[in-house]
Amino acid sequence: MNLDILTLFPEMFESPFGHSIIKRAVEKKLVQIEIHNIRNYSQSKHRSVDDYPFGGGAGMVMQVEPIDLCMQHLKEQRAYDEVIYLSPDGELFDQPMANQLSTKQNLMFLCGHYKGVDERVREHLVTREISIGNYVLTGGELAAAVIIDAIVRLIPGTIGDEQSALSDSFQDDLISPPVYTRPADYKGWKVPDVLLSGHQAKIEEWRHEQSLLRTGQKRPDLLK
Ligand code: SAM
Repeated sequence: MNLDILTLFPEMFESPFGHSIIKRAVEKKLVQIEIHNIRNYSQSKHRSVDDYPFGGGAGMVMQVEPIDLCMQHLKEQRAYDEVIYLSPDGELFDQPMANQLSTKQNLMFLCGHYKGVDERVREHLVTREISIGNYVLTGGELAAAVIIDAIVRLIPGTIGDEQSALSDSFQDDLISPPVYTRPADYKGWKVPDVLLSGHQAKIEEWRHEQSLLRTGQKRPDLLK
């Protein structure tokens, strides 16, 4: 899978992809993540990438030309399944969307900043708009990192135990059951006996019951 991120702040991605599972997925070449600085495509003398909004008003708007030139350059190298603009008014990101995107080969992510991008970017260059929640962030970088984290961990081979990602919350519209590890007794806080029984069928039955119970308590909206 190839993930190309277009941003004005490339250094924001140094940390999120430099650790743990995502780092290993990159090292194993299961995913290639490339960060592209939109400013490098500015044609202006001062490398500017934003300007005042037509009609007045507060805030700056990201210009269409540098974004278009950057996208053109990338599209010459590969065909994209989706060109995604991170936007607070986009489709709300969720687990089914993560599952769907994890099956794609080439994805482009455009991170907005300031007041956002010139509307012509959205009209002509983007194929999909995604929001990570009903709140406004400073820029699309954190949103892109969240989405990429959620999809990369689903790529086969990324997580050691293939079953692990599939047993997470929201797969099958259920919340994960509780998990425990050693010690079995800490200050008298005990691990449920069934988990220590070694009886796999009973353990699975208990986990399913707990999932249903938790979903009913925490997220009844998920139970159909
Ligand atoms: N003026 C825009 C509005 O009211 O919808 C908000 C612009 S916001 C300050 C700057 C950028 O952050 C956006 O262009 C978008 O890329 C990103 N962004 C902000 N909130 C987001 C969210 N909830 N999900 C995804 N991206 C978001």
